[in-house]
Amino acid sequence: MATTAVGVSATPMTEKLTAADDDQQQQKLKKGIAEFYDESSGMWENIWGEHMHHGYYNSDDVVELSDHRSAQIRMIEQALTFAYVSDDPEKKPKTIVDVGCGIGGSSRYLARKYGAECHGITLSPVQAERANALAAAQGLADKVSFQVADALNQPFPDGKFDLVWSMESGEHMPDKLKFVSELTRVAAPGATIIIVTWCHRDLNPGEKSLRPEEEKILNKICSSFYLPAWCSTADYVKLLESLSLQDIKSADWSGNVAPFWPAVIKTALSWKGITSLLRSGWKSIRGAMVMPLMIEGFKKDVIKFSIITCKKPE
Ligand code: SAH
Repeated sequence: MATTAVGVSATPMTEKLTAADDDQQQQKLKKGIAEFYDESSGMWENIWGEHMHHGYYNSDDVVELSDHRSAQIRMIEQALTFAYVSDDPEKKPKTIVDVGCGIGGSSRYLARKYGAECHGITLSPVQAERANALAAAQGLADKVSFQVADALNQPFPDGKFDLVWSMESGEHMPDKLKFVSELTRVAAPGATIIIVTWCHRDLNPGEKSLRPEEEKILNKICSSFYLPAWCSTADYVKLLESLSLQDIKSADWSGNVAPFWPAVIKTALSWKGITSLLRSGWKSIRGAMVMPLMIEGFKKDVIKFSIITCKKPE
């Protein structure tokens, strides 16, 4: 599991070098993520709309391309249901943080659903600007706001939010302990934390790592999608346990997202898809080229689409 913890037994000099290297790597990753989304978000919105995450499909659904937007909304609803987020006017969330907000699709949906105040953060200035423009256009400017900020160092006070939402951003985080610690810090006592993210499969008893051929698939995906080392769902659960969070639950939704990547590839190969890709640039093209590997990773069971939820103790 990736953490920034520097080996305590190392000599001070080694620690310094390791910490500096680590920091440099994290800065490089953040820059890559920001540029990737600056470049590709317009294209994605143009073809797929405001939600930049998988759809949730029931296994017997016959999937039409036009169903994908409703599948993305279903993903949000399924996540809320899984975490038992209440619709009761007394108990529903009033303040929400959307960590890794893209162009703010979840924030606006949640703000409307609950009448809540919602703050989104992203590394991409283009996304933050677009998210604010969409909020204004949809009459939500007084409810939702977006800014460029790092999920690992959030610009919010302790205990501010009663729903902490991370939809498909955890896979970008180079330090999973720091990530969940920040989610926990900004959560109010009793708040719900929802993490929907890409994981690798849980290791079997006695296994120390994935098999080399599995690592190979993930490494190729990492370099094109600006992802650091992956962890498993069980790793997330352990981290949440180590922070004394309550009601920790997880589920594997890999089967429920299976129609997603074939659909994305289909749209990428359409005339509109190809022209938008070529216009948006090299980072987007490189991302499109590894999409078949996502399908392979799911089929080979090395990639897992996971939801992990918990509550901060009262
Ligand atoms: N949750 C959104 C977007 C998912 S794409 C949606 O469902 O539509 C991943 C998002 O995570 C991007 O907006 C990216 O900028 C953001 N992200 C990745 N690493 C981040 C970090 N360290 N801090 C803040 N945002 C980050």
